[in-house]
Amino acid sequence: QPIHSTEENSRIVVCVRKRPISKKERSKNDPDVISTVDNTLQVFEPKLKVDLTKYTEVHEFSFDKIFNEESNNMMVYKNCAQPLVFAFFKGCKVTCFAYGQTGAGKTYTMMGTNEEPGLYTLALQDIFRLKAKPEYSHLGVYISFFEIYGAKLFDLLNGRRRIECREDAKQRVRIIGLEQRLCNTAQDVFQILEEGAQARSTGSTGANADSSRSHAILQIQLKHMNDKSTSHEEDPAYTFGKLSFIDLAGSERAADTTHSDRQTRMEGAEINKSLLALKECIRALDQNHHHTPFRGSKLTLVLKDSFLSIDSRTVMIANISPSASNCEHTLNTLRYADRVKEL
Ligand code: ADP
Ligand code: MG
Repeated sequence: QPIHSTEENSRIVVCVRKRPISKKERSKNDPDVISTVDNTLQVFEPKLKVDLTKYTEVHEFSFDKIFNEESNNMMVYKNCAQPLVFAFFKGCKVTCFAYGQTGAGKTYTMMGTNEEPGLYTLALQDIFRLKAKPEYSHLGVYISFFEIYGAKLFDLLNGRRRIECREDAKQRVRIIGLEQRLCNTAQDVFQILEEGAQARSTGSTGANADSSRSHAILQIQLKHMNDKSTSHEEDPAYTFGKLSFIDLAGSERAADTTHSDRQTRMEGAEINKSLLALKECIRALDQNHHHTPFRGSKLTLVLKDSFLSIDSRTVMIANISPSASNCEHTLNTLRYADRVKEL
């Protein structure tokens, strides 16, 4: 029986986060068209009739959780990501996505700022706190951080080096050459993340992606540490739990398929393909993995083990802008999020 409640152990939780109106929007008198009450949300879409008289079309949605402009990253963490961290320590494969238009708050939610640490930081603080318990002393925390741009993978912990992903003879997905760093403190990881974020924005080649066109994937794995050997690190059998945080490409980029520039068009097509495949894979989680189309894109292929795991947990945070000028993209995001959780 599929579950869609807000229970701690729901397999799929879909949340919406509305960011505050920005200074720029305020200065342009671009109004807030989103109102939220508990877990329902209304969009007041400004429209024009054929005779150019104005009217408002109201759209209503409900989700497992809704965060409005008064929410901070800690509230989002406690409600959305902390339950995933607990499941991760029980050996589950868990995934948290930030979806939405560029500028809607995905990176603010995931990475955060110095003043307002995001889910990465808040989760890592909990992870190392839990890891310090004697019952977890046999486990090591391994970090990898990579990017999917077009249909290509780049290792953000290795100067944005190109890496390959393929399925082996046992149909396990391997990312060949992906750096996995053993970390002992949250501080170790913060340093690594900074390095990765730097690589993401500057790259090693110069010809690198605008971050709105790539998916950034932070994977945290708990692995069994036998003796001092590291030769098993690559072996998936040694993975106890896996936590993936994914800052998705800007959802509006998926519509770039008619752009005049060929490169932009191809990137748009790839983003479109991956976001559609992602939706189908999450939906398949509720249908006991029949026909999970994880081969539909690089993004979903990389997450194959999580999608096929019986212990998987998935949280999607759909980030939206409140402003009238972004209303169309906001509606697209809300419809996507609605489809993800719909049976
Ligand atoms: P995205 O990653 O989706 O493109 P960002 O996270 O970069 O969007 O957010 C765009 C801008 O809005 C940034 O300046 C960010 O600091 C700000 N912002 C986003 N969400 C919030 C929020 N909840 N509270 C305050 N500022 C926010
Ligand atoms: Mg971003």
